[in-house]
Amino acid sequence: MRDVSEPLTMTCRRCRRVLRGDPALELGVRTSRYDRLVFRCDACEVGYSNATSEADRIEITATPAGNVPVEVHAGLTDALGASINVVARPGKAWKFCSANSEDAATWTVIRALAMADQLDRVAVALGVGHLTGGEPARVLLWGAPAPGSNGAAADAAALVEQISRDLGEKDDRRSEPDVVVMWDDLVVVIEAKLGSGNDRQSENLDRFDRYLRRPELWSAAPDEIKAVGFYELVRNWVIAWELAERSRSGSRRLRSCSLFSAISLGKLSSNVNSTNGCASREASFAGYRLSRVCDSETEIRRSSLSACKRPAPRPSS
Ligand SMILES: [Zn+2]
Repeated sequence: MRDVSEPLTMTCRRCRRVLRGDPALELGVRTSRYDRLVFRCDACEVGYSNATSEADRIEITATPAGNVPVEVHAGLTDALGASINVVARPGKAWKFCSANSEDAATWTVIRALAMADQLDRVAVALGVGHLTGGEPARVLLWGAPAPGSNGAAADAAALVEQISRDLGEKDDRRSEPDVVVMWDDLVVVIEAKLGSGNDRQSENLDRFDRYLRRPELWSAAPDEIKAVGFYELVRNWVIAWELAERSRSGSRRLRSCSLFSAISLGKLSSNVNSTNGCASREASFAGYRLSRVCDSETEIRRSSLSACKRPAPRPSS
């Protein structure tokens, strides 16, 4: 127990003011409300998580917009409200306010690239910049058209919704790819990461089954894919594949799909935060390519095998 005679204080990491803890609240109590944070700086409109140790406290902004540069404020509230995993929406806005938020980094980077007309950098990072011709890129953020999108992005979002329905997902719990960028000949699905690895599941593996119904999408057997446990990536892979199949430009089948995982956005995000004019900021993507982009279905199959097997806990044959 804290000695109550000792004032509870910490230093605001933004303005260096000494903050007094809210006497009505207690450290060590997790919350998902800004006004339940023990330490809040009214001047900076940031608070700190209620971790007992000061070093462990995470900065949390009062609003989602407070956690991204002003240049990318427009459209944020609507975009968070449009995310297609309906049951996750309330928590999504709260998590967005955290300094560790993958969504905030995703939003900043993708919006900055879009505003600077540099979305092809996403494809260049994958080594497929040559596939970005044709109509302007269509961007979905958390499954919904990005702000300022035209009808083509709405069509892509409708496809994602139909794919979800065909997979038998519940209407309010759809798989929500962080980012989809589509060109006439290329679909890129991004699972964004900010310092953490990909989530791996080891329980309730029956959940995978609805995504493993088409053996031609996979070179590994369903049990092997389940054993590796990349539930999120498996779902994203199926969505990427289905989107590529169902999207057509004229009579052409879209040639390529790709799953770009574990983009490391941290440095880029802080660079963007610390400057103005983020729209012209050089964007560089670190991370690794989970699967090579493919020009044939055979190659897609092969690459999906490596997608599932490469990080497996046991040596692959
Ligand atoms: Zn402050």
